[in-house]
Amino acid sequence: MNAKEQAKILIEALPNIQEYHGETIVIKYGGNAMIDEELKKAVIQDILLLHLVGIHVVLIHGGGPDISAMLSKTNTESHFENGLRVTSREAMDIVQMVLCGKVNKDLVNLLDGKGIGLSGIDGGLFRAVPYKDETNTDYGYVGEIINVDPKIVQDLITQGYIPVISSVAAGMHENATYNINADTAASQLARALHAKKLILLTDVPGLMRDPKDPSTLITRLKVSQVPSLVMAGIISGGMIPKVDCCVESVRQGVQRANIQDGRVPHSILIEILSDEGIGTMFY
Ligand code: ADP
Ligand code: MG
Repeated sequence: MNAKEQAKILIEALPNIQEYHGETIVIKYGGNAMIDEELKKAVIQDILLLHLVGIHVVLIHGGGPDISAMLSKTNTESHFENGLRVTSREAMDIVQMVLCGKVNKDLVNLLDGKGIGLSGIDGGLFRAVPYKDETNTDYGYVGEIINVDPKIVQDLITQGYIPVISSVAAGMHENATYNINADTAASQLARALHAKKLILLTDVPGLMRDPKDPSTLITRLKVSQVPSLVMAGIISGGMIPKVDCCVESVRQGVQRANIQDGRVPHSILIEILSDEGIGTMFY
């Protein structure tokens, strides 16, 4: 590519930069896109670039594969029920060590001195109670966020940092820590921050009519159309909380929510700075 072509590409991004300048974008990162070092580098480069053009990026991460690895290394029992990791006191210690320690600081370290690592415990950011559903299963220290205080995150943004947040919460009523689904934490934080956009990076192209057929990707979806898709049984497994999070955040003022493929290099830049977009956009 010659210099003229390069300049043309940069200038094409100008309207998008203007649209998002000074606005907040919450990005949830986890799973496969976080294991692969090359992809991780691309995600971090995207975040740095957005930050440097004046977009306020907040990164929330999970770390399922790292947690599983450490649980088995330390012979700590844990199993899944209804798609959730039943988390004992001992398992919660490992979750906290891995998420708030290893995974969080490794991401911060990649952000070239611009990142500040926090957990949902810091500054009273997330308060949770034990998660309950209609099956009455005891999930242990799996939590449901019932209060968000975004002040610490707003302060860091104001001071020019990129907040990097692990999805762990403090107990609302007792001195305990809880393991929180990172999609849910991202959605709740996006709402509390009045973010313009929520991006959930995952390991599929987006919401598909047939999960086995990428050509059935739904590229745009009005939140009012979601209930009919749920009725049709199109949404299942880990996609259920993701879609719920997108619907809830858009209903509560986040302008757009996107589920997109974190395995595509620079998928964040494609979504924010190009006119094409990627994945499924909820509006
Ligand atoms: P993450 O680690 O990103 O949270 P999850 O495994 O929790 O990923 O959720 C994504 C998964 O949801 C996909 O890998 C896919 O198997 C499943 N899924 C269920 N229904 C759909 C659908 N309609 N379209 C796309 N993915 C779906
Ligand atoms: Mg999930």
